[in-house]
Amino acid sequence: MSVDPFLAALRTRLPGLRLLTDEVDRESHRLDETSYLEAGLPCAVAVPSTTAEVVELVRLAAEFRVPIVPRGAGSGLSGGAAGIEGGLTIAFTKMDAILEIDRDNLVAVVQPGVINARLKAAAAAQGLFYPPDPASYEMCTIGGNLGTNAGGLCCVKYGQTRESVLGLEVVMADGTVIRTGGKNIKDVAGYSLTHLIVGSQGTLALITEATLRLRPAPPPRSTLIAFFGSLQAAGAAVAAIARAGLSPVTLELMDRFTIGAVDEMHALGLDRDAAAMLMVESDLPGVAAKDELDRARVACETAGATLVVAASDPQEADWLRQGRRAAYHALERLGTVVMEDVGVPRARIADMLAAIERIAAEHAVRIGTFGHAGDGNLHPTFVFDRDDPRAAEVTEAARVDLYRAAVALGGTITGEHGVGLSRRDHLELQRGPDAIRVMRAIKTALDPLGLLNPGRVI
Ligand SMILES: Cc1cc2nc3c(=O)[nH]c(=O)nc-3n(C[C@H](O)[C@H](O)[C@H](O)COP(=O)(O)OP(=O)(O)OC[C@H]3O[C@@H](n4cnc5c(N)ncnc54)[C@H](O)[C@@H]3O)c2cc1C
Repeated sequence: MSVDPFLAALRTRLPGLRLLTDEVDRESHRLDETSYLEAGLPCAVAVPSTTAEVVELVRLAAEFRVPIVPRGAGSGLSGGAAGIEGGLTIAFTKMDAILEIDRDNLVAVVQPGVINARLKAAAAAQGLFYPPDPASYEMCTIGGNLGTNAGGLCCVKYGQTRESVLGLEVVMADGTVIRTGGKNIKDVAGYSLTHLIVGSQGTLALITEATLRLRPAPPPRSTLIAFFGSLQAAGAAVAAIARAGLSPVTLELMDRFTIGAVDEMHALGLDRDAAAMLMVESDLPGVAAKDELDRARVACETAGATLVVAASDPQEADWLRQGRRAAYHALERLGTVVMEDVGVPRARIADMLAAIERIAAEHAVRIGTFGHAGDGNLHPTFVFDRDDPRAAEVTEAARVDLYRAAVALGGTITGEHGVGLSRRDHLELQRGPDAIRVMRAIKTALDPLGLLNPGRVI
């Protein structure tokens, strides 16, 4: 790979392009939030502002055989946007226009660099709601959310990002631009390329525009928190809420270690002695919300909750939600963290929590567990003393045990963060060799030179 002629060609063919080549800029694009990974230093970071520039970048990269890493805000937790040595990172942060909020069709058309929170606010200003809600919503981009099929706090009711996407404009590996869908709610014309590309972490195509589904804004949420004497009781409550046919907008869990860390950071007055806490929210209108939370309360109490309290007002509910969103950063204050993302069918949550406890004991490692329990998606987070020499070795061994436990329960090695680089070598454990062969065939067909985010996912 010859880098200098490549950079020269970029400058000649795209004279108006913002191209960052200083070492400090390239270094700041080496890693995403998966800071424990070893990643490469890009030869440059291109910051295009139009689809036409992206097309030219892809064509030039193909000509010079330079790998491409698409990147949004770099908040990913699988190394999907981490640099490749000598590769070209394309940061979509300047393609950040909300092109249209179409009230008649309840859709938004956006560029990939739009921050999730900005789209939510723009939709809310029109009485509408964009549901996908990763805890990182104030920093992450729609392109990154599409790249990872991001989840978050309200997937339990509204689904992952994929459920809110109607169509994409994408640049393929040879520079062809295609549209995979549009404003139609129903559209079964051909293979669903939208569904294939969402979640593919930039390995199949680069997303340059998205048509997203909006909903009428739901009423303000009502919030309940329940504390439990054991993780298993909290897990049983999650299963009981599902069994009761309830559909809360949020059903989140924190274990004792995480409750303590969050309360230390935010002083919310949480019960630090409890083994686990569930946060349940309803966005149903009026008395229906009360009814839903009353039934959730019964499910929690029947499962053995030691204390169940309703948030006294929207402000308190907001503090609790912010506290839950801050779980990762609260644990980060205690040491070096490695966050995992296993998922299980939600009736198996109690079993997964028991497996996490066992794995923590067997590897003598502190694990703070929190996550989207209503989806069966948990984030067991290893916390090491900053100078712990065992960190890398223990992580490697313990995460394999986590993956095995999740897969044995019919679950997944990653519910929402993606395989990226960090879980690539474990994908076969879950999917098996035949499915990986099919994935490889798709990758080769769409990216024969293997230049779109190579070495990620498969
Ligand atoms: C504190 C914290 C909380 C988080 N909470 C959640 C959560 O609740 N739920 C959740 O799902 N995730 C969560 N995340 C992870 C992360 O925020 C999400 O994965 C998010 O979707 C990444 O968006 P980003 O803009 O940072 O993308 P990046 O990290 O830059 O990229 C993510 C992936 O998408 C690809 N990509 C980016 N843009 C494009 C594009 N235009 N075309 C094609 N591919 C592209 C990249 O190559 C990469 O593989 C959290 C992270 C942090 C730090």
